[in-house]
Amino acid sequence: MVVLAEYIWMDGTEPTQKLRSKTRVVQTETIKLVKDLPEWAFDGSSTNQAPGDKSDCGLKPVFFCKDPIRGGNNVLVMCEVTYADGTPHATNTRALLRPVAEKCAKEEAWFGIEQEYTLFKGARPLGFPENGGFPAPQGPYYCGVGADEVMGRDLVEEHLKNCVAAGLGIWGINAEVMPGQWEFQVGPLGPLEVGDQLWVARWLLYRTGEKYGINATLYPKPVRGDWNGAGAHTNFSTKAMRSAGGLKVIEAACEKLGQRHNEHIAEYGAHNTERLTGRHETARIDEYRYGVSDRGSSIRIPLATTQKGYGYLEDRRPAANMDPYRVARLLLETVCLNAKGSGTPGKNGGSKKTVVVATH
Ligand code: ADP
Ligand code: MN
Ligand code: MN
Ligand code: MN
Repeated sequence: MVVLAEYIWMDGTEPTQKLRSKTRVVQTETIKLVKDLPEWAFDGSSTNQAPGDKSDCGLKPVFFCKDPIRGGNNVLVMCEVTYADGTPHATNTRALLRPVAEKCAKEEAWFGIEQEYTLFKGARPLGFPENGGFPAPQGPYYCGVGADEVMGRDLVEEHLKNCVAAGLGIWGINAEVMPGQWEFQVGPLGPLEVGDQLWVARWLLYRTGEKYGINATLYPKPVRGDWNGAGAHTNFSTKAMRSAGGLKVIEAACEKLGQRHNEHIAEYGAHNTERLTGRHETARIDEYRYGVSDRGSSIRIPLATTQKGYGYLEDRRPAANMDPYRVARLLLETVCLNAKGSGTPGKNGGSKKTVVVATH
């Protein structure tokens, strides 16, 4: 018996790392533990991770799940990338998160990430006429139904089923505000788990799309003008936030986040300036505001959290192309480890609290 193991890793593409994968035939009945999977290597000179004369990089399995595409006992394997000597590669952002996650373990942090993405067939998003021009303006597409409003559902549905069959912690899906744009959510899960599972869910999205000749992009502003961008809202809580009196802890976290806005924005995804304009349900990139139900803020405190007095906060700043290992590291550093920051541009860590009732 053999198990086909698809080894998945983040490459060295700049400014946004992409996914790569290759298959290892493992001579075994079944994989029970991560350590049943052999360490492996690849040609880093083809992934922007090594020069040609020292091209070997290592793959260290860190998470595996069932492979819903191949079925049977086959598995998908998320890997960390190492240098030939086994130390973490410069592109290995998971290795930077590991010690931070360990230091904060007693806080029991949970993350839930809303992954927005845009489906493309050729050069245009699904629903945008091939020969130029635009579909009807935004309004009916968000959570819509019907062939005039919804594009790509077969692929989206198959991706969801694949995530469930893989055993990933998937929370839900919805059609988004711009035609051809969708969202899936992963979590709530711990800091390393949410990143591992989000990267595998992204891999499954691209892989499922191959069958349909449709590609998903995580670019934060795929269409300029009056069309929503794509984000990766990161919902975050600690045990104290989820317990009685947690709202105070959440508000204190919002204040700390305002002191370190610049550091977060620097690692919240490339080209995010195009998306965080202050329009289309975003706060401007050079402003920091938090508020109850406010979808024009940097951080939203969900209404249910205010009503109950405990729950979680939603960081709306990360772009769709963010790296969840980096975002989780920053949130833990700022909120749990009280890391010092340089504030918000033009202000010295000014934060503004707003109360706005959202439309959705
Ligand atoms: P929105 O109303 O912003 O569109 P969604 O329903 O799309 O929200 O996503 C909610 C997200 O919040 C999910 O990813 C879920 O995993 C996450 N979540 C729920 N409870 C918690 C919690 N206590 N801590 C962190 N994340 C949470
Ligand atoms: Mn959502
Ligand atoms: Mn959304
Ligand atoms: Mn959201």
